[in-house]
Amino acid sequence: MSNKSFAERDLKVLWHPCTQMKDHEILPLIPIKSGDGVWLEDFEGKRYLDAISSWWVNLFGHCNPIIKDALKQQLDTLEHVMMGGFTHSAAIELSEKLIAISPKGLNKCFYSDNGSSAVEIALKMSFQSWRNQGFSKKTKFITLENSYHGETLGALAVSNVALYKDTFASLLMDTITIPNADAYFRAEGETAAAYAQRRFVEVDKQLAQNAEFCCAVIIEPLVQCAGNMRMYDPIYLSLLRAACDKYELHLIADEVAVGFGRTGSLFACEQANISPDFLCVAKGLTGGFLPLAVTLTTDKIYQSFYDDYEHLTGFFHSHSYTGNALGCRAGIATLGIFQEQNVIVTNQLLAKKMSAVTARFKQHPNVAEVRQTGMIVAIELVKNKHTREPFPWQERRGLKVYQYALSQGVILRPLGNVIYFMPPYVITDMQLEWIAEVAWQGMLLAVAD
Ligand SMILES: *Cc1c(COP(=O)(O)O)cnc(C)c1O
Repeated sequence: MSNKSFAERDLKVLWHPCTQMKDHEILPLIPIKSGDGVWLEDFEGKRYLDAISSWWVNLFGHCNPIIKDALKQQLDTLEHVMMGGFTHSAAIELSEKLIAISPKGLNKCFYSDNGSSAVEIALKMSFQSWRNQGFSKKTKFITLENSYHGETLGALAVSNVALYKDTFASLLMDTITIPNADAYFRAEGETAAAYAQRRFVEVDKQLAQNAEFCCAVIIEPLVQCAGNMRMYDPIYLSLLRAACDKYELHLIADEVAVGFGRTGSLFACEQANISPDFLCVAKGLTGGFLPLAVTLTTDKIYQSFYDDYEHLTGFFHSHSYTGNALGCRAGIATLGIFQEQNVIVTNQLLAKKMSAVTARFKQHPNVAEVRQTGMIVAIELVKNKHTREPFPWQERRGLKVYQYALSQGVILRPLGNVIYFMPPYVITDMQLEWIAEVAWQGMLLAVAD
Protein backbone atom coordinates (compact mmCIF):
# COMPACT_ATOMS: atom_id res chain seq x y z
CA MET A 1 0.00 0.00 0.00
CA SER A 2 1.29 3.46 -0.87
CA ASN A 3 1.05 6.68 1.13
CA LYS A 4 -1.09 8.09 -1.65
CA SER A 5 -3.84 5.49 -1.44
CA PHE A 6 -4.20 6.06 2.31
CA ALA A 7 -4.20 9.82 1.86
CA GLU A 8 -6.98 9.57 -0.72
CA ARG A 9 -9.12 7.36 1.47
CA ASP A 10 -8.47 9.65 4.44
CA LEU A 11 -9.55 12.82 2.67
CA LYS A 12 -12.86 11.23 1.71
CA VAL A 13 -13.82 10.56 5.33
CA LEU A 14 -11.70 12.55 7.78
CA TRP A 15 -11.50 16.15 8.93
CA HIS A 16 -8.16 16.96 10.58
CA PRO A 17 -7.51 19.16 13.63
CA CYS A 18 -6.30 22.74 13.35
CA THR A 19 -6.15 22.49 9.56
CA GLN A 20 -7.52 24.35 6.58
CA MET A 21 -8.39 21.15 4.74
CA LYS A 22 -7.92 22.84 1.35
CA ASP A 23 -4.18 22.97 2.15
CA HIS A 24 -4.12 19.24 1.47
CA GLU A 25 -4.64 19.94 -2.21
CA ILE A 26 -0.97 20.91 -2.17
CA LEU A 27 0.36 19.45 1.09
CA PRO A 28 0.36 15.67 1.09
CA LEU A 29 -0.98 14.01 4.21
CA ILE A 30 1.50 11.58 5.66
CA PRO A 31 0.03 8.25 6.69
CA ILE A 32 2.11 6.67 9.45
CA LYS A 33 2.45 2.91 9.59
CA SER A 34 4.49 2.52 12.74
CA GLY A 35 6.53 4.23 15.42
CA ASP A 36 9.75 3.33 17.20
CA GLY A 37 11.52 5.64 19.63
CA VAL A 38 11.96 9.10 18.09
CA TRP A 39 11.02 7.68 14.68
CA LEU A 40 7.78 7.42 12.75
CA GLU A 41 7.63 5.45 9.52
CA ASP A 42 5.25 5.91 6.60
CA PHE A 43 3.86 3.28 4.23
CA GLU A 44 6.68 3.67 1.76
CA GLY A 45 9.41 3.00 4.31
CA LYS A 46 10.40 6.63 4.80
CA ARG A 47 11.31 7.57 8.38
CA TYR A 48 10.68 10.85 10.16
CA LEU A 49 12.27 12.04 13.39
CA ASP A 50 9.48 13.38 15.60
CA ALA A 51 11.21 16.56 16.82
CA ILE A 52 8.02 17.97 18.38
CA SER A 53 6.93 14.85 20.25
CA SER A 54 3.67 14.51 18.28
CA TRP A 55 2.23 17.79 19.52
CA TRP A 56 4.18 17.61 22.80
CA VAL A 57 2.69 14.39 24.16
CA ASN A 58 5.43 11.85 23.58
CA LEU A 59 8.08 11.77 26.30
CA PHE A 60 9.94 8.47 25.96
CA GLY A 61 9.57 7.52 22.33
CA HIS A 62 6.88 5.88 20.24
CA CYS A 63 5.91 2.34 21.20
CA ASN A 64 8.02 2.64 24.33
CA PRO A 65 8.41 -0.97 25.51
CA ILE A 66 7.95 -0.22 29.23
CA ILE A 67 4.64 1.57 28.75
CA LYS A 68 3.55 -1.00 26.17
CA ASP A 69 4.16 -3.93 28.51
CA ALA A 70 2.32 -2.24 31.36
CA LEU A 71 -0.64 -1.68 29.05
CA LYS A 72 -0.67 -5.27 27.86
CA GLN A 73 -1.03 -6.47 31.44
CA GLN A 74 -3.75 -3.96 32.17
CA LEU A 75 -5.60 -5.06 29.01
CA ASP A 76 -5.77 -8.59 30.34
CA THR A 77 -7.20 -7.39 33.65
CA LEU A 78 -9.52 -4.41 33.32
CA GLU A 79 -10.03 -1.96 30.47
CA HIS A 80 -12.40 0.51 32.13
CA VAL A 81 -14.99 0.93 34.81
CA MET A 82 -17.11 3.97 35.53
CA MET A 83 -15.75 6.03 38.41
CA GLY A 84 -19.14 6.97 39.81
CA GLY A 85 -19.38 4.65 42.79
CA PHE A 86 -16.47 2.46 41.63
CA THR A 87 -12.71 2.58 41.66
CA HIS A 88 -9.73 0.52 40.53
CA SER A 89 -6.12 0.02 41.49
CA ALA A 90 -4.60 1.92 38.54
CA ALA A 91 -6.46 5.15 39.39
CA ILE A 92 -5.55 4.86 43.06
CA GLU A 93 -1.91 4.10 42.39
CA LEU A 94 -1.52 6.88 39.82
CA SER A 95 -3.15 9.40 42.16
CA GLU A 96 -0.85 8.39 45.03
CA LYS A 97 2.17 8.79 42.78
CA LEU A 98 1.05 12.13 41.32
CA ILE A 99 0.37 13.57 44.76
CA ALA A 100 3.79 12.43 45.95
CA ILE A 101 5.65 14.21 43.14
CA SER A 102 3.56 17.34 42.57
CA PRO A 103 4.03 20.66 44.40
CA LYS A 104 3.12 20.37 48.08
CA GLY A 105 -0.46 20.86 49.19
CA LEU A 106 -2.01 19.25 46.12
CA ASN A 107 -3.62 16.08 47.38
CA LYS A 108 -6.79 15.34 45.45
CA CYS A 109 -6.95 14.14 41.83
CA PHE A 110 -9.91 14.61 39.50
CA TYR A 111 -9.59 12.77 36.18
CA SER A 112 -10.68 13.62 32.65
CA ASP A 113 -9.32 12.83 29.23
CA ASN A 114 -7.74 15.92 27.70
CA GLY A 115 -6.08 19.15 28.69
CA SER A 116 -9.03 21.36 27.79
CA SER A 117 -11.27 19.34 30.09
CA ALA A 118 -8.70 19.52 32.89
CA VAL A 119 -8.84 23.31 32.53
CA GLU A 120 -12.66 23.41 32.42
CA ILE A 121 -12.71 21.37 35.63
CA ALA A 122 -10.31 23.75 37.39
CA LEU A 123 -12.43 26.74 36.32
CA LYS A 124 -15.68 25.14 37.46
CA MET A 125 -14.20 23.92 40.74
CA SER A 126 -12.75 27.33 41.51
CA PHE A 127 -16.06 29.05 40.82
CA GLN A 128 -18.09 26.56 42.79
CA SER A 129 -15.67 26.51 45.69
CA TRP A 130 -16.12 30.26 46.17
CA ARG A 131 -19.88 29.90 45.70
CA ASN A 132 -20.08 27.10 48.26
CA GLN A 133 -18.36 29.42 50.71
CA GLY A 134 -20.82 32.22 50.07
CA PHE A 135 -18.72 34.35 47.72
CA SER A 136 -21.36 34.51 45.01
CA LYS A 137 -19.96 37.70 43.45
CA LYS A 138 -16.86 35.84 42.30
CA THR A 139 -17.78 34.85 38.74
CA LYS A 140 -14.92 35.89 36.44
CA PHE A 141 -11.50 34.58 35.52
CA ILE A 142 -8.23 36.36 34.99
CA THR A 143 -5.93 35.27 32.22
CA LEU A 144 -2.67 36.42 30.65
CA GLU A 145 -1.96 38.05 27.33
CA ASN A 146 -0.92 35.47 24.72
CA SER A 147 -2.15 32.53 26.81
CA TYR A 148 -3.52 29.21 25.58
CA HIS A 149 -5.57 26.79 27.63
CA GLY A 150 -7.40 24.62 25.10
CA GLU A 151 -10.24 24.63 22.61
CA THR A 152 -13.51 23.94 24.41
CA LEU A 153 -15.52 27.11 24.99
CA GLY A 154 -14.52 27.66 28.61
CA ALA A 155 -10.85 26.89 27.98
CA LEU A 156 -10.93 29.06 24.85
CA ALA A 157 -12.49 31.92 26.80
CA VAL A 158 -9.47 32.03 29.13
CA SER A 159 -7.08 31.81 26.16
CA ASN A 160 -5.73 34.75 24.19
CA VAL A 161 -4.33 33.50 20.89
CA ALA A 162 -6.27 35.39 18.21
CA LEU A 163 -6.06 32.66 15.56
CA TYR A 164 -8.02 30.25 17.74
CA LYS A 165 -10.17 32.68 19.67
CA ASP A 166 -11.34 35.58 17.52
CA THR A 167 -13.79 33.60 15.37
CA PHE A 168 -15.66 32.47 18.46
CA ALA A 169 -15.36 35.64 20.53
CA SER A 170 -19.09 36.30 20.64
CA LEU A 171 -19.71 32.87 22.20
CA LEU A 172 -17.24 33.21 25.03
CA MET A 173 -17.57 34.30 28.65
CA ASP A 174 -15.93 37.61 29.52
CA THR A 175 -12.49 37.38 31.06
CA ILE A 176 -10.00 39.86 32.42
CA THR A 177 -6.65 39.91 30.65
CA ILE A 178 -3.55 40.97 32.55
CA PRO A 179 -0.04 41.73 31.26
CA ASN A 180 2.33 38.81 30.95
CA ALA A 181 6.11 39.07 31.30
CA ASP A 182 7.04 37.69 27.88
CA ALA A 183 10.81 38.22 27.89
CA TYR A 184 10.79 38.81 24.13
CA PHE A 185 9.67 42.35 24.94
CA ARG A 186 12.17 43.20 27.65
CA ALA A 187 14.22 46.32 27.06
CA GLU A 188 17.76 46.11 25.76
CA GLY A 189 20.07 45.24 28.63
CA GLU A 190 17.15 44.39 30.91
CA THR A 191 17.04 40.92 32.47
CA ALA A 192 13.93 38.77 32.11
CA ALA A 193 13.56 38.92 35.91
CA ALA A 194 13.72 42.72 36.03
CA TYR A 195 11.22 42.90 33.19
CA ALA A 196 8.85 40.54 35.04
CA GLN A 197 9.06 42.68 38.17
CA ARG A 198 8.45 45.84 36.17
CA ARG A 199 5.42 44.32 34.46
CA PHE A 200 4.05 43.03 37.72
CA VAL A 201 3.36 46.52 39.03
CA GLU A 202 0.49 46.79 36.56
CA VAL A 203 -0.56 43.18 37.19
CA ASP A 204 -0.84 43.85 40.91
CA LYS A 205 -2.99 46.89 40.28
CA GLN A 206 -5.39 44.97 38.06
CA LEU A 207 -5.64 42.06 40.48
CA ALA A 208 -6.45 44.47 43.30
CA GLN A 209 -9.16 46.12 41.21
CA ASN A 210 -10.83 42.92 40.01
CA ALA A 211 -10.35 40.33 42.75
CA GLU A 212 -13.72 40.94 44.34
CA PHE A 213 -15.46 39.70 41.19
CA CYS A 214 -12.94 37.05 40.20
CA CYS A 215 -12.40 33.41 41.09
CA ALA A 216 -8.91 32.67 39.86
CA VAL A 217 -5.91 33.53 37.72
CA ILE A 218 -4.98 30.88 35.17
CA ILE A 219 -1.43 30.68 33.87
CA GLU A 220 0.95 28.51 31.84
CA PRO A 221 4.04 28.34 34.06
CA LEU A 222 7.28 29.55 32.38
CA VAL A 223 6.40 28.93 28.72
CA GLN A 224 3.37 30.02 26.70
CA CYS A 225 3.71 27.14 24.29
CA ALA A 226 0.89 27.57 21.78
CA GLY A 227 1.49 31.33 22.00
CA ASN A 228 4.68 30.93 19.95
CA MET A 229 6.82 29.44 22.73
CA ARG A 230 7.17 32.74 24.54
CA MET A 231 9.02 32.46 27.87
CA TYR A 232 9.28 34.42 31.10
CA ASP A 233 11.18 34.49 34.35
CA PRO A 234 10.00 32.35 37.30
CA ILE A 235 9.82 35.44 39.50
CA TYR A 236 6.54 36.31 37.79
CA LEU A 237 5.08 33.09 39.22
CA SER A 238 6.33 33.86 42.74
CA LEU A 239 4.87 37.36 42.60
CA LEU A 240 1.61 36.02 41.23
CA ARG A 241 1.32 33.38 43.95
CA ALA A 242 1.82 36.03 46.62
CA ALA A 243 -0.66 38.40 44.98
CA CYS A 244 -3.30 35.67 44.64
CA ASP A 245 -2.97 34.98 48.37
CA LYS A 246 -3.19 38.67 49.18
CA TYR A 247 -6.30 39.32 47.06
CA GLU A 248 -8.04 35.97 47.68
CA LEU A 249 -7.82 34.52 44.21
CA HIS A 250 -7.13 30.91 43.32
CA LEU A 251 -4.10 30.21 41.18
CA ILE A 252 -4.60 27.66 38.40
CA ALA A 253 -1.34 26.33 36.93
CA ASP A 254 -1.92 24.83 33.51
CA GLU A 255 1.05 22.48 33.11
CA VAL A 256 -0.61 20.52 30.33
CA ALA A 257 2.32 21.29 28.00
CA VAL A 258 5.17 22.07 30.41
CA GLY A 259 4.65 19.40 33.05
CA PHE A 260 6.69 16.19 33.35
CA GLY A 261 10.22 17.36 32.84
CA ARG A 262 9.80 19.59 29.81
CA THR A 263 11.21 22.76 31.38
CA GLY A 264 14.14 21.19 33.23
CA SER A 265 12.25 20.39 36.44
CA LEU A 266 9.50 17.83 36.88
CA PHE A 267 6.91 20.62 37.08
CA ALA A 268 7.57 24.19 35.96
CA CYS A 269 6.09 25.57 39.20
CA GLU A 270 9.04 24.09 41.08
CA GLN A 271 11.35 26.68 39.53
CA ALA A 272 9.46 29.40 41.37
CA ASN A 273 9.01 27.22 44.42
CA ILE A 274 5.24 27.73 44.40
CA SER A 275 2.18 25.52 44.79
CA PRO A 276 -0.94 26.43 42.84
CA ASP A 277 -4.49 25.81 44.10
CA PHE A 278 -5.13 23.78 40.94
CA LEU A 279 -2.65 21.96 38.74
CA CYS A 280 -3.78 20.77 35.31
CA VAL A 281 -1.78 18.03 33.59
CA ALA A 282 -2.42 15.97 30.47
CA LYS A 283 -0.29 15.62 27.30
CA GLY A 284 2.84 13.81 28.60
CA LEU A 285 1.04 12.11 31.48
CA THR A 286 0.67 8.81 29.60
CA GLY A 287 3.94 9.17 27.71
CA GLY A 288 1.90 9.95 24.62
CA PHE A 289 0.01 6.64 24.58
CA LEU A 290 -3.54 7.47 25.65
CA PRO A 291 -5.73 10.49 26.35
CA LEU A 292 -5.77 11.19 30.07
CA ALA A 293 -5.80 14.37 32.15
CA VAL A 294 -5.83 15.26 35.82
CA THR A 295 -6.84 18.34 37.74
CA LEU A 296 -5.09 18.25 41.10
CA THR A 297 -6.24 20.44 43.94
CA THR A 298 -5.88 21.03 47.66
CA ASP A 299 -7.70 19.63 50.66
CA LYS A 300 -8.99 23.11 51.32
CA ILE A 301 -10.80 23.23 47.97
CA TYR A 302 -12.00 19.65 48.40
CA GLN A 303 -13.41 20.45 51.84
CA SER A 304 -15.40 23.37 50.46
CA PHE A 305 -17.49 20.84 48.50
CA TYR A 306 -17.76 18.23 51.26
CA ASP A 307 -21.16 18.42 52.95
CA ASP A 308 -24.54 16.74 53.28
CA TYR A 309 -26.06 15.95 49.88
CA GLU A 310 -29.06 18.27 50.36
CA HIS A 311 -26.82 21.32 50.38
CA LEU A 312 -25.97 20.54 46.74
CA THR A 313 -22.36 21.57 47.17
CA GLY A 314 -20.97 18.44 45.46
CA PHE A 315 -19.05 18.72 42.20
CA PHE A 316 -21.54 17.30 39.70
CA HIS A 317 -19.21 16.99 36.77
CA SER A 318 -18.21 13.80 34.98
CA HIS A 319 -16.86 12.40 31.74
CA SER A 320 -17.70 8.91 30.57
CA TYR A 321 -14.06 7.88 30.53
CA THR A 322 -13.07 9.55 33.80
CA GLY A 323 -10.09 7.68 35.27
CA ASN A 324 -9.83 5.18 32.43
CA ALA A 325 -7.83 2.19 33.66
CA LEU A 326 -5.65 1.86 30.56
CA GLY A 327 -4.79 5.55 30.63
CA CYS A 328 -3.97 5.39 34.33
CA ARG A 329 -1.76 2.35 33.80
CA ALA A 330 0.15 4.18 31.05
CA GLY A 331 0.52 7.08 33.48
CA ILE A 332 1.93 4.83 36.20
CA ALA A 333 4.42 3.35 33.74
CA THR A 334 5.44 6.85 32.60
CA LEU A 335 6.03 8.04 36.15
CA GLY A 336 7.95 4.81 36.77
CA ILE A 337 10.39 5.78 34.02
CA PHE A 338 10.95 9.15 35.69
CA GLN A 339 11.65 7.41 38.96
CA GLU A 340 14.01 4.78 37.61
CA GLN A 341 15.93 6.55 34.88
CA ASN A 342 17.10 9.87 36.28
CA VAL A 343 15.21 11.65 33.53
CA ILE A 344 15.55 15.18 34.90
CA VAL A 345 19.34 14.92 34.95
CA THR A 346 19.42 13.48 31.43
CA ASN A 347 17.15 16.26 30.26
CA GLN A 348 19.42 18.90 31.71
CA LEU A 349 22.29 17.47 29.65
CA LEU A 350 20.13 17.25 26.54
CA ALA A 351 19.03 20.85 27.10
CA LYS A 352 22.70 21.94 27.06
CA LYS A 353 23.17 20.14 23.79
CA MET A 354 20.02 21.78 22.37
CA SER A 355 21.48 25.12 23.32
CA ALA A 356 24.81 24.32 21.64
CA VAL A 357 23.30 23.09 18.36
CA THR A 358 21.07 26.15 17.99
CA ALA A 359 23.66 28.78 18.94
CA ARG A 360 24.49 29.57 15.31
CA PHE A 361 20.93 30.74 14.64
CA LYS A 362 21.43 33.77 16.88
CA GLN A 363 23.63 35.59 14.37
CA HIS A 364 21.36 35.12 11.39
CA PRO A 365 19.86 38.40 10.06
CA ASN A 366 16.33 36.95 10.08
CA VAL A 367 16.43 35.60 13.62
CA ALA A 368 15.13 37.94 16.31
CA GLU A 369 15.70 35.58 19.18
CA VAL A 370 16.70 32.05 20.11
CA ARG A 371 15.11 31.25 23.46
CA GLN A 372 15.13 28.16 25.61
CA THR A 373 13.57 26.73 28.72
CA GLY A 374 14.81 23.20 29.39
CA MET A 375 13.81 20.87 26.57
CA ILE A 376 12.12 23.60 24.53
CA VAL A 377 14.12 25.74 22.11
CA ALA A 378 12.40 28.30 19.89
CA ILE A 379 13.83 30.34 17.02
CA GLU A 380 11.81 33.42 16.10
CA LEU A 381 12.14 34.40 12.43
CA VAL A 382 11.52 38.03 11.48
CA LYS A 383 11.82 40.19 8.41
CA ASN A 384 14.03 42.72 10.17
CA LYS A 385 16.30 41.72 13.01
CA HIS A 386 16.71 45.26 14.36
CA THR A 387 13.12 46.51 14.30
CA ARG A 388 11.79 42.95 14.78
CA GLU A 389 9.26 43.60 12.07
CA PRO A 390 7.66 40.20 11.47
CA PHE A 391 7.24 38.56 8.11
CA PRO A 392 3.66 39.06 6.94
CA TRP A 393 1.80 35.99 8.21
CA GLN A 394 0.25 35.44 4.78
CA GLU A 395 3.68 34.49 3.45
CA ARG A 396 3.66 31.37 5.62
CA ARG A 397 7.42 31.15 5.92
CA GLY A 398 7.15 28.60 8.71
CA LEU A 399 5.28 26.28 6.40
CA LYS A 400 8.31 26.25 4.10
CA VAL A 401 10.45 25.07 7.01
CA TYR A 402 7.88 22.36 7.71
CA GLN A 403 7.91 21.16 4.11
CA TYR A 404 11.68 21.20 3.80
CA ALA A 405 12.15 19.35 7.10
CA LEU A 406 9.66 16.68 6.03
CA SER A 407 11.54 16.17 2.78
CA GLN A 408 14.62 15.47 4.92
CA GLY A 409 12.80 13.18 7.33
CA VAL A 410 12.28 15.53 10.30
CA ILE A 411 8.96 16.61 11.76
CA LEU A 412 9.12 20.29 12.70
CA ARG A 413 5.89 22.21 12.77
CA PRO A 414 6.65 25.90 13.28
CA LEU A 415 4.09 28.04 15.06
CA GLY A 416 3.72 30.84 12.54
CA ASN A 417 7.31 31.96 11.99
CA VAL A 418 8.67 30.38 15.14
CA ILE A 419 10.66 27.20 14.58
CA TYR A 420 10.91 25.10 17.71
CA PHE A 421 12.27 21.81 18.99
CA MET A 422 10.40 19.92 21.68
CA PRO A 423 11.78 16.41 21.21
CA PRO A 424 11.09 13.18 23.08
CA TYR A 425 13.53 12.75 25.97
CA VAL A 426 15.10 9.72 24.29
CA ILE A 427 16.65 11.78 21.48
CA THR A 428 20.45 11.54 21.14
CA ASP A 429 23.08 14.27 20.82
CA MET A 430 23.75 13.27 17.22
CA GLN A 431 20.09 13.42 16.35
CA LEU A 432 19.91 16.90 17.89
CA GLU A 433 22.83 18.00 15.71
CA TRP A 434 21.08 16.65 12.67
CA ILE A 435 17.67 18.22 13.29
CA ALA A 436 19.36 21.57 13.95
CA GLU A 437 21.15 21.30 10.61
CA VAL A 438 17.85 20.47 8.86
CA ALA A 439 16.17 23.41 10.57
CA TRP A 440 19.05 25.67 9.53
CA GLN A 441 18.76 24.66 5.86
CA GLY A 442 14.98 24.96 6.06
CA MET A 443 15.30 28.42 7.53
CA LEU A 444 17.67 29.55 4.78
CA LEU A 445 15.11 28.43 2.19
CA ALA A 446 12.21 30.00 4.05
CA VAL A 447 13.72 33.46 4.50
CA ALA A 448 15.06 33.72 0.95
CA ASP A 449 12.83 35.87 -1.24
C1 LIG B 1 -2.51 21.52 24.62
C2 LIG B 1 -2.84 22.40 25.75
C3 LIG B 1 -4.12 22.39 26.33
C4 LIG B 1 -5.24 21.58 25.78
O1 LIG B 1 -5.02 20.22 25.88
P1 LIG B 1 -5.84 19.22 24.92
O2 LIG B 1 -5.49 17.87 25.43
O3 LIG B 1 -5.33 19.50 23.54
O4 LIG B 1 -7.28 19.56 25.06
C5 LIG B 1 -4.34 23.18 27.45
N1 LIG B 1 -3.37 23.94 27.95
C6 LIG B 1 -2.13 23.99 27.43
C7 LIG B 1 -1.09 24.84 28.06
C8 LIG B 1 -1.83 23.24 26.29
O5 LIG B 1 -0.62 23.31 25.73
